[in-house]
Amino acid sequence: MMASVHLLDLDLPGLEGFFQGFGERPFRARQVMHWLYKRGVTDFEAMTDLGRAVRQELGRRARLDLPAIAAEQVSVDGTRKLLVELGDGERVETVLIPDEDRLTQCVSSQVGCAMACAFCRTGASGLRRNLTAGEIVGQVVLGQSLVPPGSRVTNVVFMGMGEPLHNLENVVRAFRILSSDDGLNITRRRLTVSTCGLADAVRRLPADVLPSLAVSLNATTDEVRSRIMPVNRRHPIAELLGVLRDRPLPPRCRYTIEYVLLGGVNDSLEDARRLVRLLSKLRCKVNLIPYNPHRESAFAAPEPERVEAFQQHLLGKGFTTVVRKSRGQDILAACGQLGAEEARPRSCPSMGPRDTPHPGDNARRLGG
Ligand code: SAH
Repeated sequence: MMASVHLLDLDLPGLEGFFQGFGERPFRARQVMHWLYKRGVTDFEAMTDLGRAVRQELGRRARLDLPAIAAEQVSVDGTRKLLVELGDGERVETVLIPDEDRLTQCVSSQVGCAMACAFCRTGASGLRRNLTAGEIVGQVVLGQSLVPPGSRVTNVVFMGMGEPLHNLENVVRAFRILSSDDGLNITRRRLTVSTCGLADAVRRLPADVLPSLAVSLNATTDEVRSRIMPVNRRHPIAELLGVLRDRPLPPRCRYTIEYVLLGGVNDSLEDARRLVRLLSKLRCKVNLIPYNPHRESAFAAPEPERVEAFQQHLLGKGFTTVVRKSRGQDILAACGQLGAEEARPRSCPSMGPRDTPHPGDNARRLGG
C-alpha cells in the first residue's frame, strides 16, 4: 500500500478519522500528537505506548518525515536561517529569530511567490508550488528540534517565502495544528499571518481562525501601490482597508500594518500624512521596514532621517509605530531577502546555487 498520508498534515479530527479508517480507536490520535508535538518524536518505532501492531500499521499507511536541512547560516545577531529541502527536492527557507524571552520562527508557505512585488526577492522567480499544511507545520517541528531543551518556539510568523493567503486552505490547516492544545499549542495572538492584501481571502478566513493579521500596505496611493505591488490592481487600497475594518477583531487585538520604506518612492512626509488619514478608522499599529537591499531589485534604502521623520509623524498622531529591526541581514535572512535561487531544486551536489558572499557574511553551512 502507498504510504500517502502525512501525519503532520492532519489536525486532531483528521487524525482520529485516519485511525478509524483502519479500525483503530480515535484516542490513538491524541497519543500520536503527544509524541509529535510535545516530545518531538517522529519515529513510529519510538512511540512505545501504541503497541507493536499499531506501529507497524502506521509504518505501512503513513509518513512522518520532516523537511531536511540543506544548509544553515547563523547571523552575528543570533538569527538562524535554515534552507530546508522538501520531499520533491524543492527548497524553502525558514528563519529562527531569538529576542529576549521570545523565539520567533518565520515560516514559508509557498515555494516562490506569484505576487511579484517589485521590491521583494522571493517574488522575482514566480510561484513554483504551494506548501502542504504538513510542510508548514514541519518547519516548526524542525525549528523546535533545534532549540535547547527547556526553550521553545514561542511565536510563528507566516512571513517567509510566499503569500500565505494565496495558499489559504493549507495555511488554515497549519494554523489549526499549530494553535491547538494537542498540537504545538501556540496561542493565536502569537501566530501572525502576513498578507500582501488579498482582500477576498481575508474575507474567506473561517470565523474560528483568528490569527494576528499583518498587512503589507507599503504605499499610500493606488498609483504607487499598483506600481510596486500588482495585487493592488485587483484589490485597491480602499477595498483592502474596508475589508479589514468590517472584520470582527477580538478584544485587545489590532492589525499590524507593514510599510516597507523605499527611498524616494513612498517615504516622504506627504506619505506619512496620507497614511495617518488612511488608517484613522482602523485598530492597528504600524511596522516600518526600511528596504533591505538585494540583487534582484534596484530600490534604495531610505535615508535614516526620513525613516525617523516618518516614524515621528505617526507617533505624533497617536499610532504605535516601530521601525522593524532588520535581523539576519548579513545572511540575507531579513524581510524580502529570502531566496530566489535557493528555492530551486539542487543543481550542485553540496549547497545548490547560492549568493555570492555578502558583506559581513559569516555563514556556517551544513551538509556541504
Ligand atoms: N506575502 C506576505 C508575506 C511575506 S512577509 C506579505 O507580503 O505580507 C514579507 C514582508 O517583507 C512583507 O511585509 C514585505 O512587504 C516585506 N518586504 C519584501 N521585500 C522587502 C525588502 N527587500 N526589504 C524590506 N522588506 C521587504
